[in-house]
Amino acid sequence: MTLAETWRAARPPAAGVHVDSAACSRQSFAAIEAASQHARHEAEVGGYVAAQAAAPALDAGRAAIRALLGMPDAGVSFTTGSNHALDILLGDWTGERTVACLQGEYGPNLAIMARHGFDIRLLPVDEFGRLDVNAVGAALAHHPPALVHFTVLGSHSGIVQPVHAMASACHGHGIPMFVDAAQGFAHLSMADIGADAVYSSSRKWTAGPRGVGFLATRPGLLTDSTRERLGHAETNVGLQVGFSVALGEHVAAGPSAVQARLREVGAAARTALAEVPGWRVIEHVDEPSAITTLQPPDGVDAAQVRERLIAEHGIVTTYLGIQRAPRQMHHPALRISPHVDVTDDDLAAVAKALTAVTR
Ligand SMILES: *Cc1c(COP(=O)(O)O)cnc(C)c1O
Repeated sequence: MTLAETWRAARPPAAGVHVDSAACSRQSFAAIEAASQHARHEAEVGGYVAAQAAAPALDAGRAAIRALLGMPDAGVSFTTGSNHALDILLGDWTGERTVACLQGEYGPNLAIMARHGFDIRLLPVDEFGRLDVNAVGAALAHHPPALVHFTVLGSHSGIVQPVHAMASACHGHGIPMFVDAAQGFAHLSMADIGADAVYSSSRKWTAGPRGVGFLATRPGLLTDSTRERLGHAETNVGLQVGFSVALGEHVAAGPSAVQARLREVGAAARTALAEVPGWRVIEHVDEPSAITTLQPPDGVDAAQVRERLIAEHGIVTTYLGIQRAPRQMHHPALRISPHVDVTDDDLAAVAKALTAVTR
């Protein structure tokens, strides 16, 4: 079986066409069953006893995260998601409160930075919102922030940011770097970046359950009091078990094979969708991600299009309001984010339905 066939056979059949992995991928039978088995075990032996029994599974999940990040000595904590991880990181920060990020920074991240009293500066970018690698060194030297927060792949665009160039600029200037890999983890190679902290969400490209994520930090980054608090906080262990199973499946499938297939899927989606009258594909066809953003024709409401695609065609996509990236987006858009199992027929159905609902 091909990777696509194996991935498809491992989960319940989709009711229609699911091209919404950047929001929430479809879980496997194994991940779903592991989380529900754990809940059952809690009822049988008690929640705290069941948690002890699950410890090796969670250790395996954390080991997979360390391996995928190339951070063998990182501290890894499960969180409720990416925003939770950023909130922990910034709440723990004891230095000066200035942070540099991209113009396309995720809106809820900007809100968390503001809530923690950070003064936000923008990194130099090109006309596509991609980091300007030739200008970033001078920008950091001229006006050094205490911290760089780098979102390697945004929620509002499929454009992959040059994370290694950003990391070497940070190292050159002695500036710590935190990486938002909510969209990047499992989707792109996140190995050996040299970041001080990396965080992501389970439900996106790893295809684990909702309501769980991770925060990986280099030793010594977090204060003892934050580490202690994380160790004792109430959590949903069953979701962490499900996420650990999904991580195991990702490792078993072969991260580089998954990532190569996702690049292929992105190019196929952009090619199919370029045919839809009036809509504009934002990314270059070969942009190395599986996210396609489509700008609607004038007068077409992308939120309504998303609703009609579900109601009339059984096709799940994402509506992108400008609050996703308030410093960059001027128009709402529609996001198409298939996983490795998408077929040419699925993509043709999306293009056809989009044409039908726009007419
Ligand atoms: C989804 C997303 C987040 C937030 O993740 P949660 O798990 O919902 O907190 C942060 N950053 C980016 C780029 C995202 O796409």
